[in-house]
Amino acid sequence: MREAGRIVARAHEAMRQAIEPGVSTKQLDTIASTVLRDHGAEPCFLGYAPGEHPPFPATITASINQELVHGIPSPARRLREGDIIGIDVACFYQGYVGDAAFTHPVGEISRSAQRLLSATKTALDAAIAQSVLGKRISDVAKATAKTAGRLGYSVAREYTGHGVGAAMHEEPQVPNWWHSRNSRFKWQDYDLQVGMTYAIEPMLIAGRSDLVELDDGWTVVTKDGSLTAHFEHTVAITEDGPLILTLL
Ligand code: MG
Repeated sequence: MREAGRIVARAHEAMRQAIEPGVSTKQLDTIASTVLRDHGAEPCFLGYAPGEHPPFPATITASINQELVHGIPSPARRLREGDIIGIDVACFYQGYVGDAAFTHPVGEISRSAQRLLSATKTALDAAIAQSVLGKRISDVAKATAKTAGRLGYSVAREYTGHGVGAAMHEEPQVPNWWHSRNSRFKWQDYDLQVGMTYAIEPMLIAGRSDLVELDDGWTVVTKDGSLTAHFEHTVAITEDGPLILTLL
């Protein structure tokens, strides 16, 4: 899983270096596909078709500004100065999965966009810090929610992190908040144990947390058009604390 995570990190680094105004999201997708292929890894998203969704047609998801997650790369979609772009990529390598996402500035971005990126990273760090023996999944989830709230943001309620292993999506779900007694959401809680591996992925929203899925069957946007950011790492629970698997 560390090798799979490292390949994902390499793909992210190659894309990060290519980000500038005028570059299309399809070009970024091609960069990621090439890195995966060159390392003998396969993309997890390509052809992925859960539930009612059409098969996802690309290696990365590229989600700009008010797009929360699952944006479809396109040669027609070019980055503009001041955008923020969230990129998610996961790969299979020798039977295991690595999964990570980052949101990047395109050129100079507004102060409010900078604050959102920084807050989302802080939320991810806080959730990773809770990924230790003696804690539960709910502690990880609450760390994200608490950080987001303290910094003035809402979180995506419907979309969660997830266990990662031989498959991209396994138990447990790792939400970005924790349900109350009367919630329509009911996440299952687990004690953290050595050897558990999961992706934590805070998705912070500058405005309200209501979301809409576009007609393409994938792209999720904020209903009020507010800005969003998404960061994700795959993490392992060890005796010595959390180990981030998706680093270079
Ligand atoms: Mg991911």
